[in-house]
Amino acid sequence: MRFGTQFIVYFDRLAHNVDLLRSHIKGPEILFMVKADGYGHGAIPLVEFANRELNIKEFGLATLGEALALRQQLPSLNFEAYVFSDLNFSIPGMLEYYGENRILPVVHNERDLKIFLGAPQLRHFPLILKFNTGMNRLGLAPERQEEIIKMIKQVGRTSIYHLMTHFACASLNMKNAQNQRQIASFAAIKSQFKAANISIERTSISNSGAIEQNVGLDETHIRPGLMLYGPSSLIPSIRSKSWWHGKVISCFETLVLNSFLVAKGQPIGYGGTPVKEAGVLGVLSVGYGDGFSTRYQGVTLKDGKLCGEVVGRVNMDMIQVLFPNGTELDIGTNFKIWDEEEAQIEQFCKETGVIPYEIFCQMGPRVPRYYK
Ligand SMILES: *Cc1c(COP(=O)(O)O)cnc(C)c1O
Repeated sequence: MRFGTQFIVYFDRLAHNVDLLRSHIKGPEILFMVKADGYGHGAIPLVEFANRELNIKEFGLATLGEALALRQQLPSLNFEAYVFSDLNFSIPGMLEYYGENRILPVVHNERDLKIFLGAPQLRHFPLILKFNTGMNRLGLAPERQEEIIKMIKQVGRTSIYHLMTHFACASLNMKNAQNQRQIASFAAIKSQFKAANISIERTSISNSGAIEQNVGLDETHIRPGLMLYGPSSLIPSIRSKSWWHGKVISCFETLVLNSFLVAKGQPIGYGGTPVKEAGVLGVLSVGYGDGFSTRYQGVTLKDGKLCGEVVGRVNMDMIQVLFPNGTELDIGTNFKIWDEEEAQIEQFCKETGVIPYEIFCQMGPRVPRYYK
């Protein structure tokens, strides 16, 4: 655990983002994606706040373990937990975990579908199906839909609780051919179920990138992840296509451990990298042991008027930042690596080539999370 370096999550900013999203999308319900521990922010406090205060009732996880943790730690709350990828019903006991804890598996292959449909204790359990419309990762094959319909009818089911698919390229223009093919394929799958008299209670297709481009807003649900944490998920060249201007819900701040003048060429840190210019060197209390990757070497850090460059090697516990001569950098003060403004994260991503998803998820367990 660190002192002075922290990841602060502001609930009022999340509330702002949810309001902004709801006022734009009008109809659909939000299935809030909180996999990977709420994209590094801490799933449990996020779900507790979003469920109690923002009336969000559905949450998306990647693994059964993530969903179980929510059920165990928030036993009095009333929400649905979807698990998107951690599925293998041939493991003894796995189905029971889902059934007994009312955790909803997103069934994405026929082998698991068969076991699910054949389990007597799950006869009335919600059936959730994900189809592969072009992502080519997980998902039932559209070409097999007739057989799938037979399997469903054979056990006397007449409805699907939630039918979904996932875009491969939502961070690119939604008008491109790949995205349009996926949209058309999903529409065809829906019609074929209807033609077979299988009713569909819920549908969803869109993650952040698609929502930002107004795609999938006529389904019953949307599945936003990244946008609710603040940043846009569109690539910079089409960023202007997005209506989204969320607040970054987190502030990542660290501590100035040391500050001193350096001369041009002075070697610093491991490997003795010479500094390119004379200036003020700040040693900050964050390193790859906290999730500040060695790939962030050279990145510009800006906190208000303070602006410096990460120089030399990123260490496990510290980084060195070179500020211009004359900068007043006081030992013992905090330095914000990012805060509410999306521009900071955007700049960070642009310079490092890392996507915001990864920056958040990499945040290490040594960095304490605080919630305000
Ligand atoms: C992660 C995920 C999402 C959310 O994606 P974002 O780009 O973060 O909005 C939605 N749907 C599925 C199936 C996912 O795996």
